[in-house]
Amino acid sequence: MRFLKGKDRKEENSICGRSARSHNGITGGRGSSTGYNHKSAGNTHKYRTGNYKRFESTAPLTHDRGAAQSGRPADRTGLPALSGKTKLIIALLLVLAISITVFLHQRPGRAVSADKPPIDVELLTVNSYSRPGIPLDKVNGIVVHYTANQHSSALDNRNYFENLQYTHVTKASAHFIIGTEGEIVQCIPTAEIAYASNSRNGDTISIECCYDNDDGSFNTATYNSLVQLAAYLCARFGLTSDDVIRHYDVTGKLCPIYYVKHPDKWQDFRDDVERAYSAA
Ligand SMILES: [Zn+2]
Repeated sequence: MRFLKGKDRKEENSICGRSARSHNGITGGRGSSTGYNHKSAGNTHKYRTGNYKRFESTAPLTHDRGAAQSGRPADRTGLPALSGKTKLIIALLLVLAISITVFLHQRPGRAVSADKPPIDVELLTVNSYSRPGIPLDKVNGIVVHYTANQHSSALDNRNYFENLQYTHVTKASAHFIIGTEGEIVQCIPTAEIAYASNSRNGDTISIECCYDNDDGSFNTATYNSLVQLAAYLCARFGLTSDDVIRHYDVTGKLCPIYYVKHPDKWQDFRDDVERAYSAA
């Protein structure tokens, strides 16, 4: 869209193991209790250290390298004890697996559903500058925009559209606006057209996105809401991620600027949308 606001008017262009107890050890472990005689009467303590030492000498720990290299005895679990190196490798693999899992779940756009997101419906008054009331008979696509008005909120943009009927600055609007906290404001029913995407106003639904980042990229909250809303609309109107386009794809304008300058990020977004509705 073309978003204009006061002096800030801009051209839109958007894881040992079984501790040492695995010393077979454990069989000897019982021996240790018999080889250890503790008496406290008369404030004396007598230890059958002889037996204890024999026990120690005949019951080597499985951590012993020799035991590790020959057929090692099984502990109570019936499983062979593991060498220190093996345990270390297992621990590292587990840490790696956990790290990958955490990364995937933190990456924006992952684990987003295609359920209908919360939407604050604040429809514009029907007027020729922003809500012409013209039916949108067939939805063939979804067009993503950025507001080109850094730091503005979803409601700010909605009110800007509403006031165009008085200011007559331009004709502009969008069906949905997503704010930097991920909030979604709906301005126009999906059964009517919006003034947002030029030649595609007649067969597409438009989504404007707010942003704070200087490069025009959407923050995680905005991005996740965009993925969910787009996936929800795809499911509702029988579309696929191929039908989700940028304003740039319609007119060549740098909108949404970050996703025009970074096509790989745009493709990531489309992949996230597809993942969301495919999982539904
Ligand atoms: Zn645009």
